[in-house]
Amino acid sequence: MIGTTVPRMPRLTEEQKKQRAADKVMRHALEAEERDRRETLKRLEWEKNGTYLTRAEFEANMPCRGCGRPFIDNRGPWPAQIHMTPAESAEYAAENKYYLDRHRDCQAYRTGIDSSRITHCGFCFPPPPLSSRQIDVIRKEFGRASKTPEHELDIWKSTLTCGHTVQGRQHRTSTSRTIAVEDCPECSARRGVVRAERIGPAAPPPHQTVPDQPIVTAAEFDAIKLVEEHKVALRLAEDRLKQIRRDAHRGVSFED
Ligand SMILES: [Zn+2]
Ligand SMILES: [Zn+2]
Ligand SMILES: [Zn+2]
Repeated sequence: MIGTTVPRMPRLTEEQKKQRAADKVMRHALEAEERDRRETLKRLEWEKNGTYLTRAEFEANMPCRGCGRPFIDNRGPWPAQIHMTPAESAEYAAENKYYLDRHRDCQAYRTGIDSSRITHCGFCFPPPPLSSRQIDVIRKEFGRASKTPEHELDIWKSTLTCGHTVQGRQHRTSTSRTIAVEDCPECSARRGVVRAERIGPAAPPPHQTVPDQPIVTAAEFDAIKLVEEHKVALRLAEDRLKQIRRDAHRGVSFED
Protein backbone atom coordinates (compact mmCIF):
# COMPACT_ATOMS: atom_id res chain seq x y z
CA MET A 1 0.00 0.00 0.00
CA ILE A 2 1.33 3.34 -0.97
CA GLY A 3 1.08 5.85 1.80
CA THR A 4 0.08 9.38 0.97
CA THR A 5 1.92 12.09 2.74
CA VAL A 6 -0.16 14.96 3.94
CA PRO A 7 1.91 18.11 3.88
CA ARG A 8 2.41 19.21 7.48
CA MET A 9 1.40 22.73 8.35
CA PRO A 10 4.31 24.39 10.05
CA ARG A 11 3.59 24.71 13.78
CA LEU A 12 2.76 28.18 14.94
CA THR A 13 5.07 29.75 17.43
CA GLU A 14 3.57 31.24 20.61
CA GLU A 15 4.24 34.65 19.14
CA GLN A 16 2.31 33.81 15.97
CA LYS A 17 -0.60 32.38 17.96
CA LYS A 18 -0.81 35.58 19.97
CA GLN A 19 -0.72 37.65 16.81
CA ARG A 20 -3.53 35.60 15.24
CA ALA A 21 -5.72 36.00 18.34
CA ALA A 22 -5.05 39.75 18.37
CA ASP A 23 -5.89 40.02 14.64
CA LYS A 24 -9.17 38.20 15.22
CA VAL A 25 -10.14 40.49 18.11
CA MET A 26 -9.28 43.54 16.00
CA ARG A 27 -11.31 42.19 13.05
CA HIS A 28 -14.40 41.74 15.26
CA ALA A 29 -14.02 45.25 16.70
CA LEU A 30 -13.73 46.73 13.20
CA GLU A 31 -16.82 44.78 12.09
CA ALA A 32 -18.80 46.14 15.06
CA GLU A 33 -17.56 49.64 14.20
CA GLU A 34 -18.64 49.21 10.57
CA ARG A 35 -22.10 47.94 11.60
CA ASP A 36 -22.50 50.91 13.91
CA ARG A 37 -21.38 53.31 11.14
CA ARG A 38 -23.84 52.02 8.56
CA GLU A 39 -26.70 52.01 11.10
CA THR A 40 -25.91 55.61 12.04
CA LEU A 41 -25.86 56.61 8.35
CA LYS A 42 -29.22 54.90 7.86
CA ARG A 43 -30.75 56.78 10.77
CA LEU A 44 -29.50 60.10 9.34
CA GLU A 45 -30.86 59.17 5.91
CA TRP A 46 -34.28 58.29 7.40
CA GLU A 47 -34.38 61.60 9.24
CA LYS A 48 -33.38 63.53 6.10
CA ASN A 49 -35.88 61.74 3.86
CA GLY A 50 -38.73 61.70 6.39
CA THR A 51 -38.91 57.91 6.26
CA TYR A 52 -40.09 57.56 9.87
CA LEU A 53 -43.81 57.10 10.32
CA THR A 54 -45.51 59.12 13.02
CA ARG A 55 -47.57 57.12 15.51
CA ALA A 56 -50.77 58.54 14.00
CA GLU A 57 -49.69 57.46 10.49
CA PHE A 58 -48.78 54.04 11.82
CA GLU A 59 -52.14 53.64 13.57
CA ALA A 60 -53.91 54.71 10.36
CA ASN A 61 -52.02 51.76 8.78
CA MET A 62 -49.96 53.87 6.40
CA PRO A 63 -47.56 51.46 4.66
CA CYS A 64 -43.85 51.32 5.52
CA ARG A 65 -42.08 54.09 3.59
CA GLY A 66 -39.21 51.74 2.90
CA CYS A 67 -40.82 48.67 1.33
CA GLY A 68 -44.36 49.91 0.79
CA ARG A 69 -45.92 47.02 2.70
CA PRO A 70 -48.27 47.63 5.65
CA PHE A 71 -47.33 46.91 9.25
CA ILE A 72 -50.82 45.98 10.38
CA ASP A 73 -52.65 43.10 8.70
CA ASN A 74 -54.61 42.05 11.81
CA ARG A 75 -54.17 38.36 11.01
CA GLY A 76 -52.62 37.52 14.37
CA PRO A 77 -49.21 35.91 14.83
CA TRP A 78 -48.20 32.86 12.80
CA PRO A 79 -49.24 29.57 14.40
CA ALA A 80 -46.41 27.25 15.47
CA GLN A 81 -45.06 25.56 12.35
CA ILE A 82 -46.25 22.08 13.39
CA HIS A 83 -49.83 23.39 13.68
CA MET A 84 -49.89 25.13 10.30
CA THR A 85 -52.31 24.02 7.60
CA PRO A 86 -50.71 23.31 4.19
CA ALA A 87 -51.99 26.70 2.99
CA GLU A 88 -50.44 28.47 5.99
CA SER A 89 -47.16 26.62 5.50
CA ALA A 90 -47.04 27.72 1.87
CA GLU A 91 -47.84 31.30 2.81
CA TYR A 92 -45.23 31.27 5.56
CA ALA A 93 -42.58 29.96 3.15
CA ALA A 94 -43.55 32.60 0.59
CA GLU A 95 -43.25 35.40 3.19
CA ASN A 96 -39.87 34.06 4.26
CA LYS A 97 -38.66 33.89 0.65
CA TYR A 98 -39.95 37.41 -0.09
CA TYR A 99 -38.00 38.69 2.90
CA LEU A 100 -34.77 36.78 2.28
CA ASP A 101 -34.71 37.63 -1.45
CA ARG A 102 -34.49 41.29 -0.48
CA HIS A 103 -32.69 41.34 2.86
CA ARG A 104 -30.48 38.27 3.03
CA ASP A 105 -27.34 40.37 3.34
CA CYS A 106 -28.73 43.06 5.64
CA GLN A 107 -27.72 41.14 8.81
CA ALA A 108 -30.56 42.86 10.59
CA TYR A 109 -33.38 41.91 12.90
CA ARG A 110 -36.80 41.51 11.34
CA THR A 111 -39.39 43.91 12.65
CA GLY A 112 -43.11 43.48 12.73
CA ILE A 113 -45.95 43.70 15.19
CA ASP A 114 -47.45 40.91 17.27
CA SER A 115 -50.90 40.97 15.71
CA SER A 116 -49.65 40.84 12.11
CA ARG A 117 -47.63 38.51 9.92
CA ILE A 118 -45.78 40.84 7.60
CA THR A 119 -42.15 41.45 8.59
CA HIS A 120 -39.88 44.35 7.70
CA CYS A 121 -36.11 44.65 7.58
CA GLY A 122 -34.66 46.42 10.63
CA PHE A 123 -31.71 47.72 8.62
CA CYS A 124 -33.42 49.01 5.46
CA PHE A 125 -36.42 50.62 7.13
CA PRO A 126 -37.13 52.32 10.43
CA PRO A 127 -38.97 50.23 13.03
CA PRO A 128 -42.63 51.02 13.72
CA PRO A 129 -43.01 53.99 16.07
CA LEU A 130 -43.43 53.25 19.75
CA SER A 131 -46.76 53.57 21.51
CA SER A 132 -47.09 55.91 24.49
CA ARG A 133 -47.20 52.83 26.75
CA GLN A 134 -43.90 51.55 25.32
CA ILE A 135 -42.36 55.02 25.73
CA ASP A 136 -43.49 55.03 29.38
CA VAL A 137 -41.87 51.65 30.02
CA ILE A 138 -38.58 52.79 28.44
CA ARG A 139 -38.63 56.07 30.36
CA LYS A 140 -39.13 54.18 33.63
CA GLU A 141 -36.25 51.79 32.86
CA PHE A 142 -33.94 54.69 32.00
CA GLY A 143 -35.02 56.53 35.13
CA ARG A 144 -34.12 53.49 37.20
CA ALA A 145 -30.77 53.10 35.45
CA SER A 146 -29.83 56.75 35.97
CA LYS A 147 -30.62 56.43 39.69
CA THR A 148 -28.22 53.52 40.21
CA PRO A 149 -25.96 54.50 43.13
CA GLU A 150 -22.32 55.05 42.15
CA HIS A 151 -21.04 52.34 44.49
CA GLU A 152 -22.98 49.72 42.48
CA LEU A 153 -21.16 50.74 39.28
CA ASP A 154 -17.74 49.76 38.02
CA ILE A 155 -15.39 51.79 35.88
CA TRP A 156 -14.24 50.06 32.72
CA LYS A 157 -11.38 51.07 30.46
CA SER A 158 -11.89 50.23 26.78
CA THR A 159 -9.13 50.18 24.18
CA LEU A 160 -10.55 51.16 20.81
CA THR A 161 -9.60 50.25 17.24
CA CYS A 162 -7.78 53.61 16.92
CA GLY A 163 -5.57 52.74 19.92
CA HIS A 164 -7.14 55.38 22.17
CA THR A 165 -8.72 54.41 25.47
CA VAL A 166 -11.94 55.62 27.03
CA GLN A 167 -13.54 55.00 30.40
CA GLY A 168 -17.15 54.19 31.08
CA ARG A 169 -19.40 53.04 33.90
CA GLN A 170 -21.37 49.85 34.03
CA HIS A 171 -23.44 48.00 36.62
CA ARG A 172 -21.42 45.48 38.66
CA THR A 173 -23.69 42.59 37.66
CA SER A 174 -22.11 42.64 34.17
CA THR A 175 -18.85 40.76 34.19
CA SER A 176 -17.72 41.92 30.76
CA ARG A 177 -18.05 45.21 28.89
CA THR A 178 -21.46 45.23 27.23
CA ILE A 179 -20.73 48.03 24.73
CA ALA A 180 -19.13 47.02 21.41
CA VAL A 181 -18.69 50.55 20.01
CA GLU A 182 -17.87 53.73 21.93
CA ASP A 183 -17.37 57.41 21.19
CA CYS A 184 -13.69 58.31 20.92
CA PRO A 185 -13.31 61.98 21.95
CA GLU A 186 -9.80 62.15 20.46
CA CYS A 187 -10.91 60.96 17.01
CA SER A 188 -14.41 62.50 17.29
CA ALA A 189 -15.67 59.19 15.91
CA ARG A 190 -17.36 55.99 17.01
CA ARG A 191 -14.82 53.18 17.42
CA GLY A 192 -15.06 49.44 18.01
CA VAL A 193 -13.92 48.14 21.40
CA VAL A 194 -10.88 45.88 20.99
CA ARG A 195 -10.59 45.00 24.67
CA ALA A 196 -11.96 46.23 27.94
CA GLU A 197 -10.76 45.85 31.49
CA ARG A 198 -12.52 46.49 34.75
CA ILE A 199 -10.69 49.20 36.70
CA GLY A 200 -12.73 48.97 39.90
CA PRO A 201 -15.73 50.39 41.76
CA ALA A 202 -16.89 53.87 40.71
CA ALA A 203 -17.29 54.79 44.40
CA PRO A 204 -16.46 53.18 47.76
CA PRO A 205 -19.28 51.36 49.57
CA PRO A 206 -21.50 53.67 51.63
CA HIS A 207 -20.11 54.44 55.09
CA GLN A 208 -21.69 52.17 57.71
CA THR A 209 -22.42 54.22 60.82
CA VAL A 210 -21.83 52.12 63.92
CA PRO A 211 -23.31 53.68 67.05
CA ASP A 212 -20.58 54.65 69.49
CA GLN A 213 -20.34 52.34 72.50
CA PRO A 214 -20.52 54.27 75.76
CA ILE A 215 -17.27 54.15 77.69
CA VAL A 216 -17.69 52.35 81.02
CA THR A 217 -15.12 52.61 83.82
CA ALA A 218 -14.18 49.55 85.92
CA ALA A 219 -15.90 50.96 89.03
CA GLU A 220 -19.08 51.69 87.10
CA PHE A 221 -18.98 48.18 85.62
CA ASP A 222 -18.77 46.61 89.10
CA ALA A 223 -21.66 48.74 90.32
CA ILE A 224 -23.83 47.75 87.30
CA LYS A 225 -23.06 44.09 87.97
CA LEU A 226 -24.07 44.44 91.62
CA VAL A 227 -27.36 46.14 90.69
CA GLU A 228 -28.13 43.34 88.18
CA GLU A 229 -27.41 40.66 90.81
CA HIS A 230 -29.69 42.38 93.32
CA LYS A 231 -32.43 42.67 90.71
CA VAL A 232 -32.26 38.90 90.12
CA ALA A 233 -32.31 38.21 93.89
CA LEU A 234 -35.27 40.57 94.33
CA ARG A 235 -37.20 38.83 91.52
CA LEU A 236 -36.56 35.39 93.06
CA ALA A 237 -37.66 36.62 96.50
CA GLU A 238 -40.85 38.09 95.04
CA ASP A 239 -41.64 34.85 93.19
CA ARG A 240 -41.06 32.92 96.44
CA LEU A 241 -43.39 35.24 98.34
CA LYS A 242 -46.11 34.86 95.72
CA GLN A 243 -45.81 31.10 95.86
CA ILE A 244 -46.11 31.07 99.67
CA ARG A 245 -49.23 33.22 99.54
CA ARG A 246 -50.84 31.08 96.80
CA ASP A 247 -50.17 27.90 98.76
CA ALA A 248 -51.50 29.46 102.00
CA HIS A 249 -54.67 30.47 100.15
CA ARG A 250 -55.22 26.88 99.01
CA GLY A 251 -54.59 25.64 102.59
CA VAL A 252 -51.50 23.72 101.72
CA SER A 253 -48.89 23.51 104.38
CA PHE A 254 -45.40 22.66 103.48
CA GLU A 255 -42.13 22.24 105.13
CA ASP A 256 -39.25 24.05 103.69
ZN1 LIG B 1 -40.93 47.84 5.36
ZN1 LIG C 1 -32.82 45.04 4.45
ZN1 LIG D 1 -9.52 57.46 18.73
